[in-house]
Amino acid sequence: MVSRHHLVSKYSRQAPRYTSYPPAPHFREMEDPKRAMQLIDDRNEVPRPLSLYIHIPFCASLCWYCGCTKVITRREGDSAAYLKRLFAEMKGMKARMNSGNRVAQLHFGGGTPTFLTPDELRETGRIIRDLFPFEEEMEFAVEIDPRRLTEDHVRALAEIGCNRASIGIQDVREDVQRTINRIQPMEINEQVVRWLREAGIRRINVDLIYGLPLQTRSSFEETLEAVKTLDPDRFAIFHYAHVPWMMPSQKLLDRQPMPDAHEKFAMLEMMIANLTGSGYSYIGMDHFARTEDDLSKARRNGTLQRNFQGYSTRADTDIYGFGMSSISQIGDGYLQSVKDLDEYHRRIDNGQHPWHRNYFLTEDDRIRRHTIMRLMCDLELDFDAIGRQWNIDARSWFGDAVAPLENMAGDGLIEWTPGGLRVTDTGRMFLRNIASAFDAYYADTEKKVRYSRTV
Ligand code: SF4
Repeated sequence: MVSRHHLVSKYSRQAPRYTSYPPAPHFREMEDPKRAMQLIDDRNEVPRPLSLYIHIPFCASLCWYCGCTKVITRREGDSAAYLKRLFAEMKGMKARMNSGNRVAQLHFGGGTPTFLTPDELRETGRIIRDLFPFEEEMEFAVEIDPRRLTEDHVRALAEIGCNRASIGIQDVREDVQRTINRIQPMEINEQVVRWLREAGIRRINVDLIYGLPLQTRSSFEETLEAVKTLDPDRFAIFHYAHVPWMMPSQKLLDRQPMPDAHEKFAMLEMMIANLTGSGYSYIGMDHFARTEDDLSKARRNGTLQRNFQGYSTRADTDIYGFGMSSISQIGDGYLQSVKDLDEYHRRIDNGQHPWHRNYFLTEDDRIRRHTIMRLMCDLELDFDAIGRQWNIDARSWFGDAVAPLENMAGDGLIEWTPGGLRVTDTGRMFLRNIASAFDAYYADTEKKVRYSRTV
């Protein structure tokens, strides 16, 4: 048997998280918006269920580990100025859309969506609902930072139909919180969860991060035990992506000891054992959900999906992103909006589209996207079924993947099956490495595009 130490040393490499394929660094400068417009028109010839992502970029203070696109401000009026453009962008898109479309999923992300005042949240919800009718059983999720949240925020979210909250906690220990510049006593988390449940928002996700300075396996177990008392339905426990060349504030974390790959792997093993022993299913990568949760059911019945928000239960939706830096996934195209706030305002004020990068999938991209997403969701691949679906000989199509996969089979990460392959329990912890074998761009760009490490 290959030792754990050997596996961690060998597979702690930079690789994408595969929330899209190709990964976003491969998107290209948009030269001609006509192709994007045509794509949208084509996809709106018939009514479809939609997923909407709304990006609210503002945060009142900077968490030093942060890898999101955000704007740090406490200036009153910044959010109102932004919302004016956001509503204009949505109205412009609505005009191109099929009037029979219905929203199946709505996600407010950031930044900090609850940076908006309660009344701004109410207005945002009202305008979205007026523009884009909702399905009866839709999911409406909001990312929540408990530190500045008021009970009126929670009431406003309930009024506009929010039914799932993702609470950013990261770590409950004060020494870790000081190191990352995010002080958040557990009492605040408890109060926010109480408010949410009282307001009828009962689906609770908790976001944690492992791999931060001062964290150890046992300190993180303490965090996990404390957070379990909140009784969340889902955990997203993200591996900290240390990318200081992209996020300079992360250099501030280098002043404190960080867990090495072996310690982080021990944390991952601990959290899988802990949560699966406490009524949660390990969905994949960084997600856990209560056994009876929709995500767990989707995992069991093979309908799980992966997208920019991580894992999802809806397969058939195009994703329309609104706001600066948001990414839309529409049919076979990706469109990414500008990341600069002033540029976003300027474009919308001039009646222009907000996209600066895009990508349109080739036939090979489509096959590989399907294959990588099924691997990430089902933890197995059936090459015969892929061959039938795409009318190819899948084994020769993925000929380049055979050598790295044989190597991984030797290391016990995958097992060959009569129809394809299956990811082993050990392999689940190296899923990004396994997926990269099917990524046509990975070998060429591993040295140029600097992703975060897999372990
Ligand atoms: S981690 Fe969240 S709250 Fe902190 S700066 Fe980043 S986006 Fe803002």
